[in-house]
This record gives sequence, structure tokens and C-alpha cells, in this order.
Amino acid sequence: MKVPLLDLTLQYEQLKDEIMPKIIEICETQQFIMGPNVEKMEKDLAQFIKADYAVACSSGTTALHLAGFAVPHPEEPKILTTPYSFFATGGAMWHISKKIYFVDIEPDTYNMDVSKMAELVDKHDIDIIVPVHLFGQCADMDPIMDIAKNNKRGKNIQVIEDAAQAIGSLYKGRPAGSLGDVACFSFFPSKNLGAFGDGGLVSTSNTEIYEKTRKLRVHGTSKDRYLHEVTGFNARLDAIQAAVISAKLPHLPKWTEQRRKNAALYDELFDGNPNVVTPVIRDYNYSIYNQYVIRVGEKRDELQKYLQEKDIGTAVYYPIPIHLQPAFEYLGLKEGSFPVAEKAAKETLALPIFPDLTEEQIRYVAKAVNEFTAKK
Ligand SMILES: *Cc1c(COP(=O)(O)O)cnc(C)c1O
Repeated sequence: MKVPLLDLTLQYEQLKDEIMPKIIEICETQQFIMGPNVEKMEKDLAQFIKADYAVACSSGTTALHLAGFAVPHPEEPKILTTPYSFFATGGAMWHISKKIYFVDIEPDTYNMDVSKMAELVDKHDIDIIVPVHLFGQCADMDPIMDIAKNNKRGKNIQVIEDAAQAIGSLYKGRPAGSLGDVACFSFFPSKNLGAFGDGGLVSTSNTEIYEKTRKLRVHGTSKDRYLHEVTGFNARLDAIQAAVISAKLPHLPKWTEQRRKNAALYDELFDGNPNVVTPVIRDYNYSIYNQYVIRVGEKRDELQKYLQEKDIGTAVYYPIPIHLQPAFEYLGLKEGSFPVAEKAAKETLALPIFPDLTEEQIRYVAKAVNEFTAKK
């Protein structure tokens, strides 16, 4: 049996008749950039996220750029983030400031370890915190916001949620993207809500951040097209991507439920196997399982090879923590700086979790994992 890590062709088949006429319509109007489709998509998404405003942009990485420049901060702000995320989290922030700091992660959820945060925020005089809702589960946002707004130095630290993997995820009943000062989403095709190409979004309920983000998206202009109030970017979204995202959004809750059902079945099938640690979801969190990541110890690479031989697709998210990437060598952070993240990078493996998996496929994957890990 073949089980790919992700297969979107089934989803495309189901939605083809709904989406293709919208794309043809856009081609017929030749209105490709921004316009009514983008405005509609922004409205739909703001409502879904329960944020006052949403600004569509060209990718999740771009959303991080825009949010980073839009939040109020001093020159060369000191930015605190997680070392265990997709590179874009740290990479995008580097364009805002070279002063990047990290806080280690929790060993079970892989999200930022809030218990270590207050001390670091004070020590490094942090201006911006960028939590990531990794694999679809929100970081512990209440204490993060508390540290950001009630800290020893009396600073209004800005919190940028990297919610690229968390659309529809809930924290204590509140949606990802409505929890920080501003949030960033990605519509890269492999995300739970994927476009037919690149796309991203910034959400906020802060009017100033919203207006600044909108300006930055189009070369620093707002009303008068040729008047540039600040310098900015070309970070616009295509109308076709916006139409695809709007068309897919109503299906998202159903897809999320299917992912959660798949996760529950894996959990059950791995229950009683002491060599497989299944995802730990806090009881106040509703995870959208952008990934289903197990921890299997040092034999992770061997397991991946074994599964490959059985036609099972898996992935390592992420093999090299951000602080050990050559691009961040200038920070001087050696192996051992963030041991929890470094250990997770060696021991975790993402299994197929996409909505259209069949029960038979999930049982096949779990059986193979259980067979291999039993040998340890
Ligand atoms: C995907 C992702 C991004 C970047 O989004 P793109 O749309 O690929 O630019 C940023 N952060 C995290 C955590 C992501 O998973």
C-alpha cells in the first residue's frame, strides 16, 4: 500500500467544479492583482479568525515581514522567538533586526517554554516576541501576553503570532490569530488551508498595525497611488489565490475534524507502545493537526528509512534548529544552547495526517511504526 505524506489531488477532485469557474471568471475579467476577490477573502478570513482586520499578502513569510515592520518598535529591536520552527520564523525576523534571541521549547508540545521566558525577556530587554503555534497547536498565549504587557521594565512588548500552521486552531476557545497583537498565516499548499500557489495573511484588531500593514504591502502608499508615505514592499496577493482560499474556507472545519479523527485513531493504535510518544495536546487547546508528529528516540532516521521502504511518506520537522543554521552562526549559539529543541530535532517524525487518508492507510502506517519500534 502506498501512503504519501500529503496528497491534495483528492481534495482538488472534490472542489474542481466549485473553484475552476471562479478562476475562469478572473481570467475573463483580467483583474489578477488584488481587487474584489482579495477584499472578500480578507473579510471571510477576519471573521473566521475573529480579528477586526485581515490583510492578504503574497506568502506566510511576507506576512511575517509585514507584521514585523508594522508593530511599533525601536530601531534594531530585540526579538525573542523559538529555535524549533520552520526557518521562515527566524529568517523573516532577521530582516527586522539582527538581534534575534531564542527561548527553548517544551519537551512535550514543542512550543515555546513559557516558564523560561520572563527571565530572558528581562535579561535581553526584549521588544518583540514571536511565538509559533507549532504543528497546529497554540503556544501558551495567556502567560506570553502577560509577560509582554506586565513586565519588569514596563514595556509594551509586541507579540506576533506565527500562526502559519494553525488556521482554525483554538486556545481556551479563542482562535489562533486573535491572541497576540498581530498574527501571520500561510496558504502554502501544504498548510491546512492551501492556495493554488503562495499566499499569506496578517490579522490584527489594532487599527494602527492594520493601517501600517496595508501601506507596507503596496510600497508604502495608502490612498494616493503615487504618494509614498513610507517605504514598503510589493507583497500583494493574486485574485486567483484569494478566490481559491475563499472557496476552500467553508470546507476547513470538516477537514480539521477529519485530521483530528485521523490523529485519534493513530493515538489509539500507538497506545501501549512505550517507544512511540504521540502528540501531547493541552486540555485547553484544540489542535488542527497540521502535522502529526511522533517522538521515537535516536532511531528516528532508521524508522524513516524503514517506512520509506514500505511506501510510507514521512518528514522531519525540523532537522536543524534555527539557532544552529549557518545563517545564524553570527549569533554564536553552539550546540547545547537549546537542548530541548536540539533533542526534538533528532527524535521526531511527522506521519501522514491529511484529511483524505483512509482508515486502512492509517492502520497500515501505525502497524509499520509499531513493528519497527517493537524491535528496540
Ligand atoms: C509555512 C510556514 C511559514 C512560511 O509560510 P510561507 O507561506 O511558506 O512563506 C512560516 N512559519 C511557519 C511556522 C510555517 O509553517
